[in-house]
Parts: sequence; C-alpha cells; structure tokens
Amino acid sequence: MKKLQMVDLQSQYERIQPEIDKAVIDVIRSAAFINGPQVKQFQTSLEKYLDVKHVIPCANGTDALQIAMMGLGLEQGDEVITVDFTFAATVEVIALLKLTPVLIDVEKDTFNLDIDALKKAITPKTKAIVPVHLFGLCANMEAIMEVAKAHNLYVIEDTAQGIGADFTFSDGTKKKVGTIGDVGTTSFFPSKNLGCYGDGGAIFTNNDDLAHVLRGIVNHGMYQRYYHDVVGVNSRLDSLQAAILDIKLPHLETYNKKRREAARYYNQGFKNNPNILTPTTKKCGDICDTCDCHVFHQYTLQITNGKRDALHQHLNELQIPNAIYYPVALHKQKAYEDERYKESDFTVTNELVKNVISLPMHTELEKEQQDYIIKTIVDFVGN
Ligand SMILES: *Cc1c(COP(=O)(O)O)cnc(C)c1O
Repeated sequence: MKKLQMVDLQSQYERIQPEIDKAVIDVIRSAAFINGPQVKQFQTSLEKYLDVKHVIPCANGTDALQIAMMGLGLEQGDEVITVDFTFAATVEVIALLKLTPVLIDVEKDTFNLDIDALKKAITPKTKAIVPVHLFGLCANMEAIMEVAKAHNLYVIEDTAQGIGADFTFSDGTKKKVGTIGDVGTTSFFPSKNLGCYGDGGAIFTNNDDLAHVLRGIVNHGMYQRYYHDVVGVNSRLDSLQAAILDIKLPHLETYNKKRREAARYYNQGFKNNPNILTPTTKKCGDICDTCDCHVFHQYTLQITNGKRDALHQHLNELQIPNAIYYPVALHKQKAYEDERYKESDFTVTNELVKNVISLPMHTELEKEQQDYIIKTIVDFVGN
C-alpha cells in the first residue's frame, strides 16, 4: 500500500510534471517574477472558470479577506458576523481592521452558518456577513443573500475551502461559490483544492467599482504609479505561482470529482455505524458523484460515542494521518473571547470541537488505502 498522507501533493505533481517544470523554467528565464504575463493570464482563466467579471489575485487567502473588507469601506466599530467554527483567519482580519467580530453557531449536519443564529445576531451596527464554505460544502447562499438584502448587509464569501463548488438556487440556476455575495475570497495554499507551490490568494467580484478599488488596495493604494489615493497593502500573487495555477486550474473539476468519489467511498464504509456521523450534503442528504455543492476540502467525521480523542491517539500510533479541524471554538480562543458571548449560543460548535476528526482527503487516494483507514476506525470505534 502506498504511504498514507493527509494530502499527497507529490503524486499530484508527478501527473503534470512536464508542464509545470516547463512553466516554472519559463518564468525564471524571463525574470518577470512580479506581475509577469502569467498573472494576467491566470486571472483571465479564473474569471472564465468562475463566470465572474473580476478576479483580483493577491498574496494569500487571509490578505484576500482583509482587502475585501477594506474595499467595502467597513469602519471601526462596524459589526461583522461570521462563524464560530472555522479557521481563525476569518475572524483575525475582522479584529485586525478594528471591526467588531460577532461569532455565531453553525449547523450540526453541514458545519456551516446557522441561518436562525444569523438572524438573531443582527443589530443596527451590523454591516457584513462572512459565510465560510467549510470543508468544501456550500453554505446556504440563497438564505444568506435574502437575510443580507433584507438588512442591507454586505456578504463576503470565504471560499478558501470551497473553490469549484456549485451552489444551486431553488429556481435551478447554479453559481460557483465565491461569486454570489458582494465579494468572494480564496486561498491557493498548497493543500487547498486549487493549491499553488507557495502562498497565493484571490478576490472575486461582479462589481466594477469595487474591483477597481480592490486592484488599488492590493498595490499600495496606487492607481497610477507613485500616486497613492487610498491606504493599501502589498499583496501580490507572483508570476511563478500564477503560472503553476494556470496549469492546475483546468484540472480542478477532475480534482474535485476525485475528492467526491473518495468521500462517497468513505461514506459507504461508515454507513449505518451508530457511533459515526458521516458528512452529508443538504441537497440529497448523502454524498453522490453528482453533488457538486461539495468539493471535500476535508472529509470530516463526527464520533458520537465520546471516543474521538482516543481514536485520534490510536490513529496517530498507527501512523494513519488525521487531524482535528478545529479543536477550539473561536469564541473560546484567547484572542477572540468576548464577555457578550453566551455558551448557550454555541451548543453545536461546542459539541463539534469534541467530536470531529478529519481523514486523509486528496486527489490521489486509493481504495486500498481507504479500506485500511475505514477498517481501523470501525474496529476501534465499534459498530
Ligand atoms: C486557508 C484558509 C484561509 C487563509 O488562507 P491563507 O492563504 O492560508 O492565508 C482563510 N479561511 C479559511 C476558511 C481557510 O481554510
């Protein structure tokens, strides 16, 4: 059996090695490391793939969130609602910009923003909502957009884990996540579904004026060289990363399909186990190869009989890669504690941090590897 890994980036690279190697050498030979033609090329490719008017490449997914919030003109004291169960970058940039983060609970079955909790959290100071398409599953964008419209709020979609997922509206239309709200952000961190070989990120919007503002902010607030109209940052996607991404982008649909197939195989293996909750999609209640609303950035189980920590240790001893995303609710992190929060408002997150465990999930997983992982877990947890 091939060595188990949480993410297998070497094998993925080997499949596209000649193209990647050539593109990388071309950039080095051209010496156009910053703002080379590859950046514009990738920007155009991604605009086409996502069917969005503007892609603004930047240095990483955290910057993308920060720049999006700067571009919307949010001001000190404005409240920004996001989820208690996500990677900290989302809340970090809200705090960094001196906006007021308001964390809310998520849904147990989807790990995504809870609409009732969202409605409850809105105050006259609320200016924006940041849904996160956690683990690759679309948040309920139709409901979120309705709430946002009713209260005149911006929606910033954190698509770092969800790139390529399709959200289907009740009238049947489909849109790529990240292109539904006012602005979407993503990360090209190597292990993300569309990963480069270093850091990278991007912002998406259909709003021409906002796109213009964002393009200035990523580049020191300059629209004309050495004329600084607004306070900006230095956040660039470099030419090497753009060249690599432009080669990987055409494979993204296949990559996401492979992840879905692997998720379906796991789900089958854990089926009907009373101690294990497998991930589901809202659309069909199960995972099928056609569930394009989930791109499985992570495959995350809930262990419901209190054995999660013991399982984590058992898998570690057997050197089966696994991870706890996330072990601490954000409202309990030292940096983000706030006396306004009540534990009774976070019952789901408080339970998830105790029960979740993520398994190896990538484009190169083999059935033999999955069989071994499934058997080890079922033998340990019981069925
Ligand atoms: C990875 C990630 C980010 C940050 O992306 P970086 O490129 O690492 O800065 C933000 N939000 C979520 C949900 C993520 O998973």
